[in-house]
Amino acid sequence: MEALASFKREINSPKKIFITTHVKPDADALGSSLGLASYLLKKGHEVTVVTPTDYPSFLNWMKGNEDVLDFSNPTQTELATKKLNEADVIFCLDFSCLSRVNELGELIRKSSAYTVNIDHHQDPEDFADYRVWSTEAAATCELVYEMIVQLGDEKLLDKDIAECLYAGIMTDTGGFRHPNTTKNVHLVVAELLDLGADSSQIANWIYDSNSVNRLKFIGFAISRRLVVHEDLHMAYFAISKKDLKKYQSRTGDTEGLVNYALSLDGIKLAALFSEREDGVKISFRSSSEVAVNKFAADYFDGGGHKNASGGKSTTSLKETVERFESLVEKHQDELFRVAPATVD
Ligand code: 5GP
Ligand code: MN
Repeated sequence: MEALASFKREINSPKKIFITTHVKPDADALGSSLGLASYLLKKGHEVTVVTPTDYPSFLNWMKGNEDVLDFSNPTQTELATKKLNEADVIFCLDFSCLSRVNELGELIRKSSAYTVNIDHHQDPEDFADYRVWSTEAAATCELVYEMIVQLGDEKLLDKDIAECLYAGIMTDTGGFRHPNTTKNVHLVVAELLDLGADSSQIANWIYDSNSVNRLKFIGFAISRRLVVHEDLHMAYFAISKKDLKKYQSRTGDTEGLVNYALSLDGIKLAALFSEREDGVKISFRSSSEVAVNKFAADYFDGGGHKNASGGKSTTSLKETVERFESLVEKHQDELFRVAPATVD
């Protein structure tokens, strides 16, 4: 209660506020940041949103997008650092450990600003003064909505905020299909629709904005880069730097690809390995009974949610994939046994 009271004190008078989210922000990361930013602006604060990297252009419609600073863009790093150093309050959204924001992480750790972490991932690192955290929440956007209501500021919610928050909930539930699509998700979404969010329009902005190159890349990946191990209930894509270059891949172009592997009948564990400049980026997805966050944390320097997690590897694409295959084979029993109720 004391923590909530001091949080309320912090944001009840005009402050300089810095909001950030994880690398390669998705709709939940950016939607929660920009939804929160619009709300805090209406409350009379000075607000800056900084992302550690760029993000897909299918998120550019969100209100406040033009003012976002990209810390990895050399022309914006200095201003972003200045805003961080001047901040009274720092909000960290949709990530639970400071390593998820690259260099910004150490700057936040050293900052004397009052720090707030709003998140729904497992095992949060203890870096914040105040935490709005629940692994029961499907999305950080759901937590931001509830926080605004809990603060008694429901009247400040509007269509722009509702659109941002709706987008994050829609994508983090896989279009209301994942097992995290709870009754509460539907109740919150109903309120967001009431505020004017247009569900079909938002789905269109996010899911129906493919470039021809991206669609051809998806076709290529499915026909040439999909490996299926029916016996192991596992399927994966391994995408090389050359593949990405051939299809002029842009940020966000590989998003969602891993779901095609999981959509196969009988497949319970899916992975996407994409070779990048700094190593291999990995996405894991699983059916409800398989916990891929533990697998990602134990073997691939990663983490995330029970059925959607990620990690990285610094060995070659080929070596990473071979290691993955042998790990799945070796740990079949623990991976595919029905997880106990306590594992979230
Ligand atoms: P995606 O596959 O969409 O990149 O990531 C899915 C989820 O896995 C994210 O929401 C995030 O929670 C988690 N995740 C992805 N990459 C990493 C990583 O390198 N470290 C950690 N801790 N989590 C990750
Ligand atoms: Mn999220």
